[in-house]
Amino acid sequence: MSTSENTTNNIYTIQENNHEDCTNMIHYHDYEELTKLIKDSGLKIERERIDKAYEYAFEAHKDQRRISGLPYILHPVSVAYILVKLGMDTDSIIAALLHDVVEDTEITLEQISKEFGSDIALLIDGLTKLSKIKYSNREEHQAENLRKMLIAMSNDIRVIIIKLADRLHNLRTIDCMREQKQRDIALETMEVYAPIAHRLGITAVKEEMEDLSLRYLDPVGYAEIEAALNETAGDREPFIADLKAEILERSRDVIDDIYISGRVKSIHSIYRKTFMKGKTIEEIYDIFAVRVIVNTLTDCYNVLGLIHDIYKPIPNRFKDYISTPKPNMYQSLHTTVVSHRGIPFEVQIRTWDMHHTAEYGIAAHWKYKAGVGSKDGDSLDDHLTWVRKILETQKDSVDATDIVSTIKTDLNPNEVFVFTPKGDVINLPAGSTVIDLAYAIHSAVGNSMVGAKVDRRIVPIDYPLKTGEIVEILTQKEAQGPKRDWLKIVRTSEARSKIRSWFKKEKREENIAEGKSEFERELKKNSIQIPEEELAEFLTKVNLKIQVNSLDDFYAAIGYGGIQLWKIMPRIRDLYQKLYVKTSTEQVPANITDTQKRKKVGSGVIVEGMDDVLIKFSRCCNPVPGDDIVGFITRGYGVSIHNCNCKNVPEDISKAEEPDRWVSAHWESSVREVFQTSLEIIGMDRTGFLADVSNQLSAMHIMIRTLNCRELPGGIGVINVTIDVTDTGHLKTVIARLNTISGITSVTRK
Ligand code: MN
Repeated sequence: MSTSENTTNNIYTIQENNHEDCTNMIHYHDYEELTKLIKDSGLKIERERIDKAYEYAFEAHKDQRRISGLPYILHPVSVAYILVKLGMDTDSIIAALLHDVVEDTEITLEQISKEFGSDIALLIDGLTKLSKIKYSNREEHQAENLRKMLIAMSNDIRVIIIKLADRLHNLRTIDCMREQKQRDIALETMEVYAPIAHRLGITAVKEEMEDLSLRYLDPVGYAEIEAALNETAGDREPFIADLKAEILERSRDVIDDIYISGRVKSIHSIYRKTFMKGKTIEEIYDIFAVRVIVNTLTDCYNVLGLIHDIYKPIPNRFKDYISTPKPNMYQSLHTTVVSHRGIPFEVQIRTWDMHHTAEYGIAAHWKYKAGVGSKDGDSLDDHLTWVRKILETQKDSVDATDIVSTIKTDLNPNEVFVFTPKGDVINLPAGSTVIDLAYAIHSAVGNSMVGAKVDRRIVPIDYPLKTGEIVEILTQKEAQGPKRDWLKIVRTSEARSKIRSWFKKEKREENIAEGKSEFERELKKNSIQIPEEELAEFLTKVNLKIQVNSLDDFYAAIGYGGIQLWKIMPRIRDLYQKLYVKTSTEQVPANITDTQKRKKVGSGVIVEGMDDVLIKFSRCCNPVPGDDIVGFITRGYGVSIHNCNCKNVPEDISKAEEPDRWVSAHWESSVREVFQTSLEIIGMDRTGFLADVSNQLSAMHIMIRTLNCRELPGGIGVINVTIDVTDTGHLKTVIARLNTISGITSVTRK
């Protein structure tokens, strides 16, 4: 390897190199291969536009060569090749072909725009900006790179996907570079690009980036693992063939359409487990993984049960990423079992939809859109919502060491990134004002804010920020503090809550007065009259989310916004009805025909003459569809439904103490056909618990609507499942059958 101190590192000149792989064409694809791939992919790609872009790029780069000496044009074509593999759209492929044209040739962005349109020009501009930065040290360089990426992503996420492909191809071909340069690129890839690929769910790119980088960062460790894997490679083929046969045989009558493949985990992931967690290769269970892909969610659990039946599961290795997806939306069931020959292996079970998401992540969007995937009406917006959601869930667990935490919520086109005068980047939801920014910096900044400058010009306080602006918050020590109407201007809940907490602390008297008059206004509007002396007592019965110790506390909370009246008024109205307005059945007009009186009131139960009444199934007898039932008007809790032969139902209702409170009730006729019911199943949270439950259900041909499981302290597992049953008898059978599963302590209808 060359260790030349040559610092003029122009990659377009042929550098001294002595690496054998340097001109290995395996890492390059020419245009013919690209067009063949496009044809075979079935993607809807506009070939004429691609041809035009290729010719344009070819002409522009015609005098340039890679360090390896190969014609430069092979690089953009190879990047385009990667993007076709990912299933990206025509624009992305064109942008890939042209991605280095503006940066490395005389051609300008304006020319590109004229030739290929503004959409392509925007993509190229984003890509060019990403690579244009030069910084003195690595940390700065990375931080700056990230910052540019945030902005690029906010405009068009395709820029990042193209950039990832560009980086991946460069990484594949850095053999000819100086060793130091190789390590720099590898490290940056490991720290910046691979995590981004991971967050976007583009697993194939992420894994290859990690493996390639590792080769340069720890060549010895890499070689060691590679050798160990090669040694055992010959055994794996027959092993996977046996497994396939076994699983197929057992699933034949239960599951149709099952796809099984075997794979060795990436070298980097094995490396992480051996070298970083101090395990030997033999100690790693999941070097080898079997992937089972089926059509439906229920089949996933069916396969799981089946596999645990054929092979012995290793305890504590089952992970349900279906009910709890990974932050990048990865979904699968994972379990590790021991083969009949004593070899442990991991099984990953998923549907095809989950599989696409697992492999392509966000790139799956374009693939589906191009009509290759089975279905997908998702708009890109939906997909970005998806990214937003992923990142949302990350928010609370930001790990400072995780470089990607920096890009947290920034994939969202509905966010803006602005800079402080010192160059810190702050991201906020689109529509955020300078007040939001002030509070995002610090509550003290917000509370002492008197104005703001954007790009050095004074702006009004409700000025909506735009990406790229440099914003300076003007503060004064003797500032009056926030204004109440700021609450209506701000966009972020962070700013709102900080403003509220200022009012809470600083303006108690004012808050109480404000809150009291607001509350009284609301009561009046709702014709609610509660005697002053009973008010405090009454409020204790309203389920308030925050603690108030006195009426003043309550008023103050309304005043600073801790309690929002519109949220609690419905509860207050209900409670008032129950406590102060007499419940009376005499109000039901006597001469209405049966059908008119019947009202659908939810829960599948019809109560005669009652509209919008809360239905509760009494606990003493737990009635289910099919039971003869009767309703009892409770004081304040709606109607409770009893089984007619429940011991709490009087033999002869007419002779009961309060006969008027008993009302007839029926199951809705339609519910007799299929009734959705929820069961809570509690048991020891052992391996296979969930699988056993889902197996029993599918063995009875029960349709599973939803299935969730969680763990309680002490190793107790709770499964909530919503299923379809036809009637009481059916439900009884189901419960009885579930109760036979070992370790189950209770099965109850919820
Ligand atoms: Mn490039």
